[in-house]
Amino acid sequence: MKDGFTPQPKAIHALVLLDRDGVLCDNHPGGVINLSVFVLVPRLKESLEMLSGDHYRIGVFTNQHYLATGQASQRDYDEMSRRLEMVAEDAGIRQGHFVIKTCPHAEDANCTCRKPKTGLIEQIVTEFKLGPRETRFYAVGDKYSDLKTLKNYYDAVLAHLGRDQTAITTILITWEHGDLRPEFTGKRKADFVPDYEVDSLERAISFIKKIEEDRRFAEATKIDIKKATKGY
Ligand SMILES: [Mg+2]
Ligand SMILES: [Zn+2]
Repeated sequence: MKDGFTPQPKAIHALVLLDRDGVLCDNHPGGVINLSVFVLVPRLKESLEMLSGDHYRIGVFTNQHYLATGQASQRDYDEMSRRLEMVAEDAGIRQGHFVIKTCPHAEDANCTCRKPKTGLIEQIVTEFKLGPRETRFYAVGDKYSDLKTLKNYYDAVLAHLGRDQTAITTILITWEHGDLRPEFTGKRKADFVPDYEVDSLERAISFIKKIEEDRRFAEATKIDIKKATKGY
């Protein structure tokens, strides 16, 4: 550091990674392959509104192998993306704070972006110009593999930067009250336990908002969360 100049710490941001099918729109047997089966989940706008502050970035990360097989057309896919962007805009999300990143490759293409590989998260972090040291990561999905993607990113990137496990939070949506939505089958995977399981997107985002508010309050007041929660 020259001339006694102390760099300001970079602002902390929260990056919320949202799966698309089964999270933002209903799942559909055979896939969400055209506009006639593209149905937004209830209260999507109200849910996204909670993340409209400057503190948040929203990255949709979605595997769409139907584009590779030709079952889905690029034109319909782009229109679905446009509709999601419009809801985000209506929810007050600033342009440049919402992005959709897609893996359009076949399941057996062995690309680097198909979840649970980490390529889409890397693309999103780059697009938002986020520093991995100054970002808290949340993943919301209806499949374990959505959440495992963030866990893999932690292992590949964040752990090496010395970030502890509080850098990432994983939330599984099980949609207990919806028929068309649950891709989640109730199968548990022994090697991975989500931090939270909730029954709607709105609840998932409420959790994220609450966690972030608590952490920001703790940072602002210099409370040591670990000590505080241990009751020291
Ligand atoms: Mg899904
Ligand atoms: Zn891919």
